[in-house]
Amino acid sequence: MINSLDWRRTHYSRDVNPEMDGEEITVMGWTHEIRDLGGIIFVLLRDRDGTIQITAPSKKIEKEIFEDLRKIKKESVIAVKGTIQESPKAPGGVELIPTSLNLLNESKQPLPLDPTEKVRAEIDTRLDSRFLDIRKPAVSAIFKIKSRMLHSIRVFLEQNEFLEINTPKLVASATEGGTELFPITYFEREAFLGQSPQLYKQIMMSAGFDRVYEIAPIFRAEEHDTLRHLNEVISIDIEASFMNHEDVMEILEKLVVQSITDVKTHCQDDLDVLGRELEIPSLPFERVSYDDMVDMVNSQGVALEYGEDMSRASEKAMGEIMEGYYFITDWPTAIKPFYVMPDEKNPEKSFAFDLMYKDLEISSGAMRVHTPDLLLERIKNQGLNPASFEKYLAAFEYGMPPHAGWGLGAERFNMTLTGVNNIRETVLFPRDRRRLTP
Ligand code: ATP
Ligand code: MG
Repeated sequence: MINSLDWRRTHYSRDVNPEMDGEEITVMGWTHEIRDLGGIIFVLLRDRDGTIQITAPSKKIEKEIFEDLRKIKKESVIAVKGTIQESPKAPGGVELIPTSLNLLNESKQPLPLDPTEKVRAEIDTRLDSRFLDIRKPAVSAIFKIKSRMLHSIRVFLEQNEFLEINTPKLVASATEGGTELFPITYFEREAFLGQSPQLYKQIMMSAGFDRVYEIAPIFRAEEHDTLRHLNEVISIDIEASFMNHEDVMEILEKLVVQSITDVKTHCQDDLDVLGRELEIPSLPFERVSYDDMVDMVNSQGVALEYGEDMSRASEKAMGEIMEGYYFITDWPTAIKPFYVMPDEKNPEKSFAFDLMYKDLEISSGAMRVHTPDLLLERIKNQGLNPASFEKYLAAFEYGMPPHAGWGLGAERFNMTLTGVNNIRETVLFPRDRRRLTP
């Protein structure tokens, strides 16, 4: 048995098919399952995208390889050179008859977690040994879908002439006021982790960038312990000049449909592993006004006053009525952030919207205030200190175009694609109230 990486993989398991009968290949991966039947050993080798069966009959292969295979422990890393043999009984219709074996690294036993999923583990146990947990096909599928989702979002935004920007995550003050910030020590001063790129993407409208997007972490120091909140998430943010809320809602719904279509086209195997049927929603998404939403919630026997923000119970009530994706529009100005544009015909209401999927909010957006006087008034009305917005406000004094935008939570959107009901499933290494490692 050799232990150095002097071979190179020629094929992934997914590239192998029965027509390749007789071909010599090299595969690399983990020993997912080992069955020793005495005269024959079966090893299921797992790589990133699937498994291939290694079949070792003692009579047909070298004695040394047979003896080495017999000693291998589960989840060890091996490389196998061998000959493909068509075999209708084996998974994928092929098996590999080994001609040499390379044990690249042995796995300790017993395993803290079983990647074959024969024993179900609690989420905390799974997250503690996340590297083993992610070896499970039904877990890695979520992240392959997330990768494709982010890719298609980037493609869509680039096609629509959005420029990718990067804004600071170390900031001097809050975006929206409130206390949901993580304070940090910044040399001799206090600073915070950014809760949203909002103010920076707006400044970029004054800078003349017209259409920008950013896909980056946001940090929220909220002490919630729910299935849909984390303290660090990825926010997909856009801001666009010379547009109103309706224009950016249209961009958002088209982006959602294009990403779903793309995931369905490229990740069918992963969706199958998750048992997920994805339906492509039709455009446009339904628009429900805030007032109608309140009536609908009340009709479900859940109390919600006009002017109140949605409670969890009201989200659930809406989830009972609404299928799939829909917008809630015309929000009361008072419960939306200061940078949201009030409707001049009815200033109690604003040009803000949320995108929902059943009972889950996945995005919030709005047309923004672009005139400095109104913006200053809104900041004061919300009890915020204009002095801490000085550098932001300056961008409005020298030619700020009308603009609109939204923020879409990557994890929440991923939940709607994969059907998982705990947001922790959609993050490799989640950060919540209790978890800071791994
Ligand atoms: P919620 O009311 O569900 O707590 P929010 O209204 O506070 O969310 P926004 O500030 O509107 O969230 O952020 C825009 C989007 O970013 C949300 O619609 C959501 O998709 C995502 N998001 C924000 N905070 C979180 C969080 N703590 N965990 C997961 N996703 C989040
Ligand atoms: Mg919101």
